Amino acid sequence: MLAYNRLPVAFEYGRGAWLWDTEGNQYLDALAGVAVCGLGHAHPAVVAAIQDQAKKLLHTSNIYCISLQENLANRLTALSGMDRVFFSNSGAEANEAALKIARRYGHNQGVDNPKIVVMTSSFHGRTLATLSATGNPKVQAGFEPLVQNFIRVPYNDITALKNLPKEACQEIVAILLEPVQGEGGVIVPDEDYLDQIRLICNQQGWLMMLDEVQTGLCRTGQWFAFQHSKAQPDVITLAKSLGGGIPIGACLARGVAAEVIQPGSHGSTCGGNPLACRSALAVLDTLEQANLASRAAQLGQRMIQSFQTMFGELPQVKAIRGKGLMMGIELDRPCGVLMSHALADGLLINVTASNVIRLLPPLIITDEESDIIASKLNNLIRSFLKNS
Ligand SMILES: *Cc1c(COP(=O)(O)O)cnc(C)c1O
Repeated sequence: MLAYNRLPVAFEYGRGAWLWDTEGNQYLDALAGVAVCGLGHAHPAVVAAIQDQAKKLLHTSNIYCISLQENLANRLTALSGMDRVFFSNSGAEANEAALKIARRYGHNQGVDNPKIVVMTSSFHGRTLATLSATGNPKVQAGFEPLVQNFIRVPYNDITALKNLPKEACQEIVAILLEPVQGEGGVIVPDEDYLDQIRLICNQQGWLMMLDEVQTGLCRTGQWFAFQHSKAQPDVITLAKSLGGGIPIGACLARGVAAEVIQPGSHGSTCGGNPLACRSALAVLDTLEQANLASRAAQLGQRMIQSFQTMFGELPQVKAIRGKGLMMGIELDRPCGVLMSHALADGLLINVTASNVIRLLPPLIITDEESDIIASKLNNLIRSFLKNS
């Protein structure tokens, strides 16, 4: 199906932060498969784990115990301070699990028409419920009727949350948001935003649910982006980088939220299968051993600094922002064409929200490689602005 507008290139193999196409051209990857390849390409620990597991056992079924899944759940709950995990195959499915938890949590409390607060410019996936939660009309167009009972408020606006009408509040059971918005344009909220949300959720009895599908697993300079704050969420969703390229998603829950799903109330055939869990365990081991959370924090700062020095003064550059190695450069005009300009220059980047250059380089990237990204971007932005 014609679901994608693809750039005219196909890659044959990769090593670290580099990719080679079928013609032998080399590219520096500053997108990492949209934050999936956090350890870069062909990381030896992930390769070895997949090879070894493929020889043993790929899949059984959630009808049986899966010890690799239990190990992975134990690692994730220890890292995040959560209690239980449900495994899926994607981010959208992880969010579906979160939305189902919220509704059931509501019904358990006698709320017959449970509502969930979501944000403007958010992204939560492409299934019917998650596209309904998404704050982007383009993602929803033509798929109405949408799943009902989402209440949308402006992102990074605590006053809007506090001003929700009393009648609505009685039916609200949860808030779902990204700790840093990715697709929406790499939007970093105020430092106390999550703490304020936690406070409101405590006062109102709402579940605080964080979509960490893009921000999770060291990307922002902490294991999870919420760990920059004091707030502990009730539900977290993960996917993208968790499997290092093998599809896997996870919905983590704590306290009452962790008890909502009982045998028979949710499921996934391949979710948490031995291969995906083995790969994810290798990803977590590597993130930990190489201390990639603090590396992402430190390198992200260094990259933002060099962007600021190189092109921060240009009047057409509206903002340079980010957290860790999740970075955005906002221009004063649509700049989607920069993706193909960069490609022609051997650099892989993304443009989101039409005028924000989004960078999600692998966390294993070296200082030298990050300098190449900065200098290539500098040239690309300057020549784009001169000619547009
Ligand atoms: C990518 C993404 C999703 C969707 O994940 P899929 O694996 O494509 O279903 C959901 N939420 C956020 C924040 C994302 O970045």
